[in-house]
Amino acid sequence: MSEPFERAHYDVVVAGARCAGASTAMLLARAGLRVLVVDPARYGSDTLSTHALMRGAVLQLRRWGLLDAVRAAGTPAISSTTFHYGEESIEVPIKSRDGVDALYAPRRTVLDALLVDAAVAAGAEVVHGRSVVGLVQDDDSRVRGASIAGSDQEPVDVSAELVIGADGMRSRVARLLGVGYDYVAPHAAASIYGYVRNVRLDGYHWFYKPGVSIGTIPTNDGETCVFVLIPQSAFNRSRGEGLDPLFDNRLREVCPDLAEAVASSSASVRLRAFPGAHSFLRRAAGPGWALVGDAAYFRDPITAHGITDSLREAELMARAITGQDSDGLEGYRATRDEVVRGFLDTTDRIASFSWTLEEAKQLHLTLNRQMNAQVDLLRALD
Ligand SMILES: Cc1cc2nc3c(=O)[nH]c(=O)nc-3n(C[C@H](O)[C@H](O)[C@H](O)COP(=O)(O)OP(=O)(O)OC[C@H]3O[C@@H](n4cnc5c(N)ncnc54)[C@H](O)[C@@H]3O)c2cc1C
Repeated sequence: MSEPFERAHYDVVVAGARCAGASTAMLLARAGLRVLVVDPARYGSDTLSTHALMRGAVLQLRRWGLLDAVRAAGTPAISSTTFHYGEESIEVPIKSRDGVDALYAPRRTVLDALLVDAAVAAGAEVVHGRSVVGLVQDDDSRVRGASIAGSDQEPVDVSAELVIGADGMRSRVARLLGVGYDYVAPHAAASIYGYVRNVRLDGYHWFYKPGVSIGTIPTNDGETCVFVLIPQSAFNRSRGEGLDPLFDNRLREVCPDLAEAVASSSASVRLRAFPGAHSFLRRAAGPGWALVGDAAYFRDPITAHGITDSLREAELMARAITGQDSDGLEGYRATRDEVVRGFLDTTDRIASFSWTLEEAKQLHLTLNRQMNAQVDLLRALD
């Protein structure tokens, strides 16, 4: 035993206990591996992210036996996505397929906690309030374990066959290893969002006008997440005005009815902002280490696909580690690169905001084909 942990040696140590880390840990623990997960954040805490799930994520949550818990948390079913290109609206019903007849958008306080609970139920040890602050490496630079500390605790070394960085886009594990970027996208969108109670729009609604994209996501507790996305450069130019006018003016410009509903919300809306970051791909694995989720592959939030991607990659990685994928982590890396390259390109073209409404429509059709291919990949794992 290595205080404060149950063991001194684990099969796998995971840095990060949200959608990528907790699901990877759950799958590995279900396969019988001894897994330790640490995260400096509080259990059940929120994070800077909206949370629209796409079909692939819902399919996986169902397959993992967790979809009932998402529903039981009062997460509303999403039965359509409506795209608004200027005056034109196209409603796309969610088809019943692969056991998925609706989408869901659970708050991260709900989803991440539920995945942690599932990891613990499978036998993983999950410790909040602790971070990976260093890596233990042998003379050949192979990772042999991790150094873990709390804010006021001395680091403790824990040995492991594999250390996984699921510690988000600014991954400390990647920095400690000096893993560079294989690809960085040229564009980035900034996002401003908040939660309101009196918006009555069923399903996801995505609104587009040149230079701006707006969306509504129904979620837990009768709330709707309303977000505004603009080019990072426009955000940087206008942020001095303050978030509220930036958000309100774009809403009024693109969807005046929605702006009215938000303005008449009984409580004032607390806005959060993400100034934007360029999508990237990092090398996903090396001797004794691997990266999963945003740590390895960050895509602009404009396509609302990061959580869906993280769950898929957790499964591909767990299969590689447990030998279900005979090509191991190299196979994981190759599959991931193949699956995400086209998707990253389309996401970046949307994030460029250099489109007409007709071009935006075509980009969404391409994205839809790419998303379907990813769902096919997941289905083939059954
Ligand atoms: C504004 C915004 C809106 C978004 N909207 C959507 C959306 O609608 N739909 C969607 O699918 N995706 C969305 N995303 C993307 C989504 O948030 C990410 O893809 C997802 O959170 C990635 O999950 P993760 O587990 O890899 O990383 P994270 O959720 O970032 O979690 C990383 C965890 O690692 C922990 N950590 C950090 N350092 C250490 C360390 N040294 N040791 C241990 N733990 C550590 C952190 O505390 C954190 O809890 C959005 C992102 C943003 C920024």
